[in-house]
Amino acid sequence: MERITANYHTHTRYCKHASGEVEDYVRAAIDAGLRVLGISDHSPYPFPDGYYSTYRMFPSERADYVRDVQRCREKYADRIEIRLGYEAEYYPRHFRQLIEEINETECEYLILGQHFTNNEYDGEYSGEWSESVEKLKLYVDQVCEAMELGIITYLCHPDLISYCGPEEIYAEQMTRLVEVAKKTDTPLEINLRGIKFKAQYPSDRFLTVAAPLKPKFIIGVDAHDPEDLIPGPADEAAFELVRKYDLDLLDRVRLKKPVL
Ligand SMILES: [Zn+2]
Ligand SMILES: [Zn+2]
Repeated sequence: MERITANYHTHTRYCKHASGEVEDYVRAAIDAGLRVLGISDHSPYPFPDGYYSTYRMFPSERADYVRDVQRCREKYADRIEIRLGYEAEYYPRHFRQLIEEINETECEYLILGQHFTNNEYDGEYSGEWSESVEKLKLYVDQVCEAMELGIITYLCHPDLISYCGPEEIYAEQMTRLVEVAKKTDTPLEINLRGIKFKAQYPSDRFLTVAAPLKPKFIIGVDAHDPEDLIPGPADEAAFELVRKYDLDLLDRVRLKKPVL
């Protein structure tokens, strides 16, 4: 079975919807034969008072998260390379402050997962099926704006956006996204969690548009349970997509330090 040797998309119990300590993921990664494990939990986000996001760590937990990862890095240094990052959305009103805050402690990289449009509390879930061209464009605008900053290590589940209008409009907008990904050297993810749970991503529809443009791809586990790191049928399906669409697959990504 073909296997990945690096995974940069890993959550922990800090985000409140994944299970397991950082160390549990590190042990599972070693068992799975990974050489590189990037921990990238849902970032704390400096939202205004009164809004509470339910799927990420609190800003007050960031220091503990960082310390857990650093401890594991030291403890398992001779067995696996551990990298420290976050997954975050590009919320224009709060992104700069996010970048400042996550750099108060160590941060090696950021992967972009645009789960909501606008600023989350005033936007819509990207994965909700919609015929709105406006929403599709806004998703692509926000993802492109983030990539243009040059600090996004890779783009998670680019095809999370669930647009069900005319195909030409989808193709036009996703072409725009892929062109900016290429220009900014931002790899696109083939998301194993989506395959495992039969989500709308990774989609043939997206790959049909993206593949001929020849962007770089990386496979990401998006682990929410240590066991997700153990290779299985989803890995096979991902490699099958790589062959089917002749994708330019990376086995490592260059980490971009998120400093503005
Ligand atoms: Zn999650
Ligand atoms: Zn994720």
